[in-house]
Amino acid sequence: MSDNWNRREFLSASALGLGLTAIGSAPPKAVGKNRPVVISSANGLRTVEKAMDLIRAGVDPLDAAIEGVAIVEADPNDRSVGYGGLPNEEGVVELDAAVMHGPTHGGGSVASLRNIMHPAAVARLVMKRTDHCLIVGEGALKFAKAHGFPEVDLLTDDSRKIWLHWKETNGKESDWLAPEEGELDPLVQRFSGVRLHGTIHCSALDTHGDLGCVTTTSGLSFKIPGRVGDSPILGAGLYLENDFGSAGSTGRGEANLLNLCSFLMVEDLRRGMAPRDAVIDACKRVASTTKAKRLLDAKGRPKFDLKFYCLAKDGRFAGGSLWAGAKFAVHDGDSARLVDCVSLYDEPLKT
Ligand code: ASP
Repeated sequence: MSDNWNRREFLSASALGLGLTAIGSAPPKAVGKNRPVVISSANGLRTVEKAMDLIRAGVDPLDAAIEGVAIVEADPNDRSVGYGGLPNEEGVVELDAAVMHGPTHGGGSVASLRNIMHPAAVARLVMKRTDHCLIVGEGALKFAKAHGFPEVDLLTDDSRKIWLHWKETNGKESDWLAPEEGELDPLVQRFSGVRLHGTIHCSALDTHGDLGCVTTTSGLSFKIPGRVGDSPILGAGLYLENDFGSAGSTGRGEANLLNLCSFLMVEDLRRGMAPRDAVIDACKRVASTTKAKRLLDAKGRPKFDLKFYCLAKDGRFAGGSLWAGAKFAVHDGDSARLVDCVSLYDEPLKT
C-alpha cells in the first residue's frame, strides 16, 4: 500500500478488486435509480464492460471510467495506449491523459509522461491533489512517483521492433538498414509504412445521472519528443458539463486542437442538439477549418480521420467520424457492443 493511499481508499479499492489505479478514487456510494450508460472508442469493449460493473457497484463515474481504460493502458497489444504503446522518434514511450469529473466540474491532465503505466489515474490526482489542471514531462513523472506510482519501462519488445523498422526505413540518407524482405518479422511487416493514430476515450453516466470522462494515449507513433496531441487538453480530447453531457475524441489530434471539438459538442448539447448531430457538427467544423493543401484530397476533404464520442445527460449517445466505417463501444444496460459511428462522408478513408 502506498503511503499516500489512505486506509479507507485501500479497503474500498480492495473490496472491488482494484489495484494501483485506485489511488485517488472516491469510496463507492449507494446506487441510484437512473439508467447508466458507458461509451468508449472501438478499442474499449472491455472498458465499457468494466466501467458498467463498477458503476453498478456504486463507484463514481470517473473512477469507473479510469478503471475501464486501465485495462487497455496495461495491455501490451494495444499499440496506441499505455504499456506497449508505440514510442516517439527516439524510441521512448510518452503518454498523455486527461480526466473530467461531472459533479465537481474538476479536470486534470498529464502530458509527455514517461515510465508510468496508468497516466489517467495520475491525471485524476492532478485534479484532486493539486491546484493545477496540467502537469507535463519530468514534473509529471516526479508527481506520479510522489503518489506511489512505480516506474516501469513502457516499451515492449514488439513495440521496440516496430519502432526500429520505422527508423530503418524512414530516412533516405540514413545509415540504418532494414533487413531483406524475407527476413522481416511478420508483426513488424504489418506496421510497415504506417503512422499509427489511436487512443482510448471513455465517457460514463452513472445511476445518479452524474458524468465522468477520460482520454488516455501514447499519441502519434514516432512523434517528435515532447509532441502533445489533443488527448490531454481539456476541451479538445475530452470535455463535460454535468448538466448537459460528456464528449471526447480520438484520431489526428492536431486537427482537433485547432477546433476544441469536445467543448464544441458539449456546447451543442447545451443548445439542445442531439448527440448524433453534435458529433457531425464537430466533423463539419474540422472539415471546414482544414486549409493546408498537404492535408486535403482532390475534392478538398481532409486526408485523415477524427472520431468523436458524445453522451448526453439523458443517456442518448453517438459516435461520429469524418470517414465511413468507424465503430465505437457502448454499454447501456444490457451488454457491451460495438455500434456504427455516423460519418460526414459516406465512403471510407483511402489510405
Ligand atoms: N488523438 C491522439 C493524438 O493526436 C492520437 C489518436 O487518437 O490517434 O495524440
